[in-house]
Amino acid sequence: MNTDSFALRHIGPRPEKVTEMLQAIGVDSLNQLIYETLPDGIKLEKELSLAPAISEQEYLAHNQILAEKNKIYKTYIGLGYSAAILPPVIQRNIFENPGWYTAYTPYQAEVAQGRLEALLNFQTMVADLTGMEIANASLLDEGTAAAEAMGMFFATRSRQQKKDNVVKFFVSEEILPQTLAVLETRAYPLGIELVIGNHEDFDFSEDFFGAILQYPGTSGKIYNYHSFTSNAYKAGIKVVIAADILSLVKLEAPGNFGVDAVVGTTQRFGIPLGYGGPHAAYFATKESYKRNLPGRIIGITKDKDGNRAVRMALQTREQHIKRDKATSNICTAQVLLAVMAGMYAVYHGPEGLKHIANKVHNSAVSLSQKLEELGYQQLNNTYFDTIRIKADSTKIQEIALANEINFYYPSKDTVSITLNETTTLEDLNNIIRVFAEAAGKETITLKNLTEGILDTHELARTSPFLTNEVFNAYHSETELMRYVKKLERKDLALNHSMIALGSCTMKLNAAAEMLPLSNPKWGNIHPFVPTDQAEGYHQVLKGLEDQLTEITGFYATSLQPNSGAQGEYAGLMTIRKYHDSRGDQHRNICLIPSSAHGTNPASAVMAGMKVVVTKSTDKGNIDVDDLREKAEKYKDSLAALMVTYPSTHGVFESAIKEITQIIHDNGGKVYMDGANMNAQVGITNPGRIGADVCHLNLHKTFAIPHGGGGPGVGPICVVEDLAPYLPTNPLVQTGGSTPLSAISSAPWGSALVCLIPYAYIRMLGAKGLKRSTQMAILNTNYIKERLKEHYEILYSGEMGRAAHEMIIDIRPLKDKNIEVADVAKRLIDYGFHAPTVSFPVAGTLMVEPTESESKAELDRFCDAMIAIKAEYEAIEDEENNLLKNAPHTQKMLTADEWNFPYSRKQAAFPLPYLEENKFWASVRRVDEAFGDRNLMCTCAPIEEYIDAEE
Ligand SMILES: *Cc1c(COP(=O)(O)O)cnc(C)c1O
Repeated sequence: MNTDSFALRHIGPRPEKVTEMLQAIGVDSLNQLIYETLPDGIKLEKELSLAPAISEQEYLAHNQILAEKNKIYKTYIGLGYSAAILPPVIQRNIFENPGWYTAYTPYQAEVAQGRLEALLNFQTMVADLTGMEIANASLLDEGTAAAEAMGMFFATRSRQQKKDNVVKFFVSEEILPQTLAVLETRAYPLGIELVIGNHEDFDFSEDFFGAILQYPGTSGKIYNYHSFTSNAYKAGIKVVIAADILSLVKLEAPGNFGVDAVVGTTQRFGIPLGYGGPHAAYFATKESYKRNLPGRIIGITKDKDGNRAVRMALQTREQHIKRDKATSNICTAQVLLAVMAGMYAVYHGPEGLKHIANKVHNSAVSLSQKLEELGYQQLNNTYFDTIRIKADSTKIQEIALANEINFYYPSKDTVSITLNETTTLEDLNNIIRVFAEAAGKETITLKNLTEGILDTHELARTSPFLTNEVFNAYHSETELMRYVKKLERKDLALNHSMIALGSCTMKLNAAAEMLPLSNPKWGNIHPFVPTDQAEGYHQVLKGLEDQLTEITGFYATSLQPNSGAQGEYAGLMTIRKYHDSRGDQHRNICLIPSSAHGTNPASAVMAGMKVVVTKSTDKGNIDVDDLREKAEKYKDSLAALMVTYPSTHGVFESAIKEITQIIHDNGGKVYMDGANMNAQVGITNPGRIGADVCHLNLHKTFAIPHGGGGPGVGPICVVEDLAPYLPTNPLVQTGGSTPLSAISSAPWGSALVCLIPYAYIRMLGAKGLKRSTQMAILNTNYIKERLKEHYEILYSGEMGRAAHEMIIDIRPLKDKNIEVADVAKRLIDYGFHAPTVSFPVAGTLMVEPTESESKAELDRFCDAMIAIKAEYEAIEDEENNLLKNAPHTQKMLTADEWNFPYSRKQAAFPLPYLEENKFWASVRRVDEAFGDRNLMCTCAPIEEYIDAEE
């Protein structure tokens, strides 16, 4: 046996245990199990054609060679991306720490208080700096955040505006080019008309529902938007400002202009450029929009004992509840990056941020002065970090490149220079030298930075920010390290125990896959550098596209969408463009089975489609007769079917090829939701079942960690018909021949984390990938076998097998008033994160162990589930029992009083393994309703909301 093989490290069950597990299930071999699981006619006949597997050490050497192919120039391109310093204490304790990066989205608040607290810091920081009342806990990037604001304004038009069909949205010509491209893509299917122009000439008498401005503008110029905003307000036009977060330290908060929303990116708060992402975007608005806000909001509430607790608030806005009426399709956001950006603000505090902003600004002013001394004209009279020099840009570019420097060249005679936190005096002198050489002059040396020009400006910031204690308490490394650890200890992540989340595939995120992310050769590349400086990246990105195209059995791949839901939207938009290209603009019906994930209908609406829901059978399969009837009924307007495969119930439906055929026969295309791809890789694929496009969740199937709720990557893979429409970017061309303008801000989305799936596939190779799929199916069926005597297992294939996930029915426990939440919370006492609760069936748990969990861990989980069943059986008091009171905290257990009808040991140490490895929930069960009634989503003293109720 080659013990060096990565597959042996990635896959949990040891080879000798596999035999035992197969026996327990009652099959002789893995092949037999797969035979019983997968319907005939969709199995792959050949092994995937991928490069042979390599070991971790070989991969790291290979990665190093690729990294060296990236050229790290000093880059002053700006355009929404600036080099930043990631404080080493944050790099080591959060970015490189599985306690943070392997956590799941904080649906189970009791085991997520650490990251929820960190996200609350992020929201507070954003609300303070923008001067707005509330902020969400991150969106995917600045462009999509701007598009969300446009969508929010469109949805909240006045009755009169709706009646008059007001569809115009004004876009300042100072907007970032990639933001404009994302807005264009979004506006089209909603019927919004973008009008681009100079905000100073805007005609307020015309009918517009909204407007977006950039602050400072893309040119670097700072405009006073007071009068625009107040005139817009009078005309019923809502205004969103896209603002540079660091500039807000020096500039009046946009909230003071009276705007309705402020959006932007927090990348420059310590997050690596990573050739475009991932970075956390922010969205801040007025409290009156709280029910319209896209994405996740963290809010404060109390637990069962009245202690302060944090949780996700107002979830009734979200796609998983509101579906096609949701405020956005956001599911995975950018949690890890938001945590890091928030922690950057905690570490630096208001004084530290002022120091950084001053340094950046003073550098720009000093540079401007020196270049003027050299005889150049600087075009911006007020600016924060960006100056524009009148000069022959071809000539400057030539000299700059020879000196390994990148500027931005907006026109033949303009050079734009954006400075950043990393810029040193030496860097500034190197820039001066480039311009001196171009002018044929002796260079002049800058010795000290001069004072800035903003402090006396009419827009100088006077309002305080980050006054809360958390931003003023952890400024030494020791203090911050302990604060980060204190939060980390409240959270249950994969480094503690298995997180068997159906549909979310919480598999191993191997250290060898993660290590290269810290390499500056990957981290320090701006997304808009000339592509020849990013050769290493292009080998990885092209390599990954090819790998995914092969795995899905399709024709081409786009890595641009930065979440699964964005992939859905992107995929549906390619279908839309395809129909349009054939003169079928009227094809707008999207069939979606009732069991679909909430992002499906929410994304269909974003793509301008009308959702028609099709029924499921009582076995959980698509009702083929109902589907056929609806496909035929809408045959003239059918655009697409969205189908999850294997189904959200974890079953490979045998009718899948018939289903895809019905759709094609009626003129539609088939969108396959690829969240369950972990059941397919190497044994079947979407191409084989007859789909036309799918997204993949690289943060599920392909080993990108969940990050506590992001980052994600949701590439789409398409058949040849749809390939021409894959999205591009206005600054760096990518995608198809007649592409969508842009889905995300960056050309390759979250390029940095694409290293992870690339590594995963390289190290497993075709055989390891297939084996992983088989083992994921084995692990699930093993749990099924162990639990089937104790719980009802819903749905299975025709031969009684589950696929890679299965559903445990908790509804029969209702006779003793036990709800699915009680079992979920009791699992915490046993050291486990709950499986997926109430999706796709209310009152159930969906379990997906993945291939990475060992037999010992599966057994531990099964023992816990079985013990909980026994506790349920022993219940005498329906209101006061082990399940209803779960989770039990240390505070409860050590209290002088103990008023429960069971012992402390039964509460906290019901099984022996807990005695040596106990996870303590930091709060008791959180009160969801209280928090929604008293929305509080910034850090503030607890009394304010506990009192709010009284
Ligand atoms: C996770 C998931 C999605 C959404 O993916 P995100 O990356 O979270 O946006 C869509 N469909 C299904 C079935 C999923 O499980």
